[in-house]
Order: sequence, then structure tokens, then C-alpha cells
Amino acid sequence: MIYLTINNFYKVITKLYLDIPYYVEKSFYENYKLNLLELDLKYFTNDEARILVICDKLFCNVKNTMENLMVSNKEREQEKWVYNLSTPSYHYDKKCHYLNSNFINYKVPQSLIGTDLAEDYRVFFKENIDKYGNSENKIAPERFASILINKFNLSESKDEILNEYILKVELKNSQVSNIQEPEQDIETLFKNIDKKMKEISSNISYKDSRRAFFLKKENESFKVYYEKRKKIVFYLFKIYFYLLNKKGFHFNEKLLEMCGLTPCKACSKNRGE
Ligand SMILES: [Zn+2]
Repeated sequence: MIYLTINNFYKVITKLYLDIPYYVEKSFYENYKLNLLELDLKYFTNDEARILVICDKLFCNVKNTMENLMVSNKEREQEKWVYNLSTPSYHYDKKCHYLNSNFINYKVPQSLIGTDLAEDYRVFFKENIDKYGNSENKIAPERFASILINKFNLSESKDEILNEYILKVELKNSQVSNIQEPEQDIETLFKNIDKKMKEISSNISYKDSRRAFFLKKENESFKVYYEKRKKIVFYLFKIYFYLLNKKGFHFNEKLLEMCGLTPCKACSKNRGE
């Protein structure tokens, strides 16, 4: 049995593709009938529909589905961050404390991303950040903002640097160990999701629905629609995650590794093999 946090599971799913020819991909996803609930996938973007279809297929037949999955090689997010993004792990022990630990990181200023100075910034930042803070024996963080701006010729303002790049970002762990039992029975939840989706899309065409991501910049109602739909996708994804966990995850370890996950060192040591 393998344990993943919901965020890591989401990372895995977004990297997976079904092994179907490129030219039928779009129509395959939009016409797909989910096994577990009624939902018109024509209202979703290709990526959203793909996530739901893969979850649905995994639930119905993990082994068969995994044999037909491909992994995309999208670049990782590393260049945006000062500290190495820890490689996401999967775990053997449901009680492993790493399933519940949080991570702290800082962003690299936007104006440095992709330049040669970004690496120097990371080194300098890591060497100095501990000296700054709001406690008595530390130097005010505003001072650090000024130093960084001058040293690296940043185009961001002092306030921006302080608030967005020096104050730490705590990445909360999404936790697998206490996935909550849904508040209603699954069948009712599925019916409600379908109903909700019909409600929000009653006045929108398939085409506009799929373009909502682009249209939202021009029009508030598309923005609202886009946000609501995104919530529905993630909510449904969480239910699938719950169901898969309940069933017992028999995810192929090789596949997880291809998606960039490594076995957690803490709990693989205790595995007693
Ligand atoms: Zn672990």
C-alpha cells in the first residue's frame, strides 16, 4: 500500500496522459462518459476533463489504466524558488510524519527568473536570510529588501520585495492521513455535482465554457463561472482521491517515479525488508 498527499496525487495526475492518438484526444475527453456520475465533460477544458477521466478510469481499473498511461515531461517549478523544491515523496507508512510536515520556501523575484543572476541570488539569499527578522537580535527585513534590490538590480519595489519575496511562504502539507469522510453519501454528492454544473452552465455555450479561462480577463461573469467550475473539478478530484484511498491504492511505483516522486526515505527504512 502506498500513501500520497492529495497535492502530490494531483501533481501525478496532471502529468499523466492516456495513450490515445493526438488527433482524437479532444473528442475522446469531451465525449467520455464517467462511470461514477453523470457529467457533461464538454463544459470542461481538455486538461480538466483529462484529470477527471483518468481518475474515473483509475477507480474502475487501476491496473489496466496504468498500463495505458504516459507521462509528460513538463518542466518543474524550481526556477521560481530559492530552496530546492523537495522531491515529492510517496510513503509506505500511513503514520509517517513526513506525510504531515510543512515546507518553507522563498520566491525568486520575477525580474531575475531566467537570468544568470538567479543562481547568485539563491546563494546570497540563503547565506543571509537568517540575520533578518522582526525579533530583537535581528536586523529589520526592510534593510534586506534594500540590499537585495541594489545588489541584484531588481526592478521590483521595496514593498514588493519585502512582502512577496522575503516573508516566507509556508507550503502547507495537504495530508493524506486524515482524509475526511464526505459529509453525505457519495451518490448524493455526485448528483449534486452534476446538478451544480448544469446550473452554472445553463446560460453558456460549450465553446465559451471551454474558453472561460481566456474570457475571464474581459468579463466578470466568465471569471465567476471559471472559478466555480475550477472548484467543482477540485472537489470531484478530492472525492476520487477519497474513494481510491478507501479502495487501497495500488499505484505502480515505477510510474510514480516517472512522475518525479521518490520513495520517502524515512518510512522505506522502516519497512523491514
Ligand atoms: Zn514517509
